[in-house]
Amino acid sequence: MRYTQSLIATRRDAPADAEVISHQLMVRASMIQKIASGIYTYMPLGLRVLRKIENIIRIEMQAAGAEELLLPMVLPAELWKESGRWSFYGKELLRLKDRKDNDFCLGPTHEEGIVDVVRKNVKSYRQLPLNLFQIQTKFRDEIRPRFGLMRGREFIMKDGYSFDVDEAAAKQTYQTMYEAYVRIFTHCGLDFRPVEAMTGAIGGSLSHEFQVLAENGEDPILSSNSVDYAANVEKAPLDPTVDLTALDQKSGSYKKVATPELTTVEEVAAFLKVAADQLVKILLFETEQGVVGALVRGDHELVEEKLKLQAGVSQLEMARAETITAELKSAVGFSGPVGLSIPLYADYALAAMTDFITGANEADVHFTGVNLGDFEIKGFFDLRRARAGDPCPAGGVYEEFRGIEVGQVFYLGDKYSQAMKATFLNDQGKEQVSVMGCYGIGVGRTAAACVEQSHDENGIIWPQAIAPYEVVLLSLKMKDEAVAGYSQKLYQELRQQGVDVIWDDRMDSPGVKFKDADLIGFPVQLVVGGRGLEAKQVEVKLRRSGEKLTLPCEGIVERLKELLAQGVGS
Ligand code: ATP
Ligand code: MG
Repeated sequence: MRYTQSLIATRRDAPADAEVISHQLMVRASMIQKIASGIYTYMPLGLRVLRKIENIIRIEMQAAGAEELLLPMVLPAELWKESGRWSFYGKELLRLKDRKDNDFCLGPTHEEGIVDVVRKNVKSYRQLPLNLFQIQTKFRDEIRPRFGLMRGREFIMKDGYSFDVDEAAAKQTYQTMYEAYVRIFTHCGLDFRPVEAMTGAIGGSLSHEFQVLAENGEDPILSSNSVDYAANVEKAPLDPTVDLTALDQKSGSYKKVATPELTTVEEVAAFLKVAADQLVKILLFETEQGVVGALVRGDHELVEEKLKLQAGVSQLEMARAETITAELKSAVGFSGPVGLSIPLYADYALAAMTDFITGANEADVHFTGVNLGDFEIKGFFDLRRARAGDPCPAGGVYEEFRGIEVGQVFYLGDKYSQAMKATFLNDQGKEQVSVMGCYGIGVGRTAAACVEQSHDENGIIWPQAIAPYEVVLLSLKMKDEAVAGYSQKLYQELRQQGVDVIWDDRMDSPGVKFKDADLIGFPVQLVVGGRGLEAKQVEVKLRRSGEKLTLPCEGIVERLKELLAQGVGS
């Protein structure tokens, strides 16, 4: 491609809404352009990056035995009602109606779509296992789209779904996909880590996220300082610190204290001159099983996903004020476990507490000296968010780092195949439900994560494998006929030899060209200048290391191809 024929519009300044460096650089380097909040045009250079990532994904998916198909982006509500997610998915699901008033949605993920295809076509165990994937536009009406391609509303995802005859086979497929993901992100040139994850709205019971390590990452991750274990902070498990079978259950010695208008842990702790870890806070939720309460130590944080899992509920909403006053006969901001007759789930840390402080279910009053014998609980559970320094059950203590989730793999079990009746006849002629896995990669987010990890003050540094072009042929002075003529010849030869090259054939100054080449981040700059040509030499400059090599014009194409094959621009 010639620069003068390409739509490249680099800019000096980043847009005001670009908070993170990858967003700033991808806009400045003319990779993406915003059309609406969370909705972007992939400019030609950006599209080339995405296509390269997609091809890496394709190659590895096919090598792992998966086959590509393409489901529609617009999906009928009926399928979503069958799985139960039409009501469950919430506002991220963009719903629309056709002219006949039929309900549809834009696919945020495609379990429903794929199960429909498979149940219509797979009848016998002989057709299994089946592993299908697509690379396609998704729409999620994210509450806070931001960071450019990192959290868009419209974005490209590779999503894959596997169908196996039983759990053992499905877990084997999960492992195969996990390994393919490791190869994909390695091939893309990313520094990443697979971590154990919660399964969230997708469902299922076993999952890993692939996290690209980055200071700006949205996801806190905990990893053991001594064994090979890492988990998303939501998932990171904790064990009880004391023997739960031998607890001090004393009771009856609590007292009321006036705490006028003091509702937060900080306010109450400061007023009573105690540390926050002397308090127990209660969090009340409305669920499909009625109101439930979670008890955690004052300085700890509840993980709602953990509570959902322990309480076996799928809907969890903060209890409304009317519910607290009318149904629980408590006082908003002053609720506590003593005297509440709802299921109470206590975090493990409570087991080690005595004489603590709780709300008294009466306005402006707390209890001090409360003990475990003063109220009834469902039991002790792992409910709180683990932090750096907490003991990791697998060994060692947790350390915290930040990551960007670029991919996730799930073992789904029969959640969708059961609900939507994706069955087959087994080798005994009996009907059986297939066992599923699902596997996603954010293509645009992978590109953004790469920029987040690989840039300097001058711009992006693309790894060779996913650069928009591997080589920029930079003609320093196009007005010089010798330079222009030689460059033209060299460009044609490079193209004929299959080198992935863009020729900066603009009349601009060398300064402008170097600046743009650095900003866009082509891994290899092939520089043709007047003086060099006189000496029959060209210069190769590597974007990442800044290293320069002077090479003879004679045999330059062959030499460059060798260097590229060695991954000189990685
Ligand atoms: P997140 O927790 O970041 O919202 P998710 O866990 O909901 O993501 P998945 O359903 O696992 O996302 O989707 C698979 C992949 O799609 C993610 O790993 C991520 O790379 C990508 N992805 C998800 N949401 C977005 C988005 N809003 N913009 C860009 N990529 C996304
Ligand atoms: Mg995910």
